[in-house]
Amino acid sequence: MGSPFVRSIVRGQYVFPRVFRWQLNAFLTRQYHPAKLANLLNDPAQLTGQFAVTFDDGYTSMARLACPILLEMRIPATLFIVVEGIGKTNVWDQREGDCVETMCTAAELRELAEQGFEIGSHSMNHPRLTRLTDAELRTEIFDSKKALEDLLGRPVLSFSYPYGEQDARVRQVVAEAGYTYATATTLNAVTSVTDPLAVPRVNMRWNTLGPELAGKLRRAYQAAEGIGDAHT
Ligand SMILES: [Zn+2]
Repeated sequence: MGSPFVRSIVRGQYVFPRVFRWQLNAFLTRQYHPAKLANLLNDPAQLTGQFAVTFDDGYTSMARLACPILLEMRIPATLFIVVEGIGKTNVWDQREGDCVETMCTAAELRELAEQGFEIGSHSMNHPRLTRLTDAELRTEIFDSKKALEDLLGRPVLSFSYPYGEQDARVRQVVAEAGYTYATATTLNAVTSVTDPLAVPRVNMRWNTLGPELAGKLRRAYQAAEGIGDAHT
């Protein structure tokens, strides 16, 4: 969240708070109903006409700019947190040459959980999971769950793959760790045949509004019907 005019290599991912509010309203205007991620997946009868909001990484700007808007609009969301980033900065982005951003503190995450936001894991260090050894993979997936559960005093049931990178081996470890659902970055709609460990998403960028949003939603539904390519 924040100004898309920031000096970032992913500045298209920065969304003005005002635009974020417009984006949420665009879903409501289209008669979509906000749902918790778990409900979206657990109740196939309600799969149409619902949307769930997720945020990856756990930037301070998410807590300070996006979460108050979600609370005010009574829209639930799942926040996926990089455990080693808590109270620090985004070293995984900086390694790729990106600008410094501060990450939520433990106290902020506890408060967000108290406010009703679901907290999920986005790994320990934000690596590309498919490139890790089995032992490293288990650390990233198992230890991040345990750390967040210890921090929050509640179960952590959801996971988000860093960079959306996952394969059968990664999904297997996520299942073994006890997560019940995990989100990827594939553009698609959630249907009754969606793999709960590869939940697709629509990437909302600074300009995902109007025809841009309509186009993404159309491509998501086409992907669900097996038509065309899926690109976020
Ligand atoms: Zn991420």
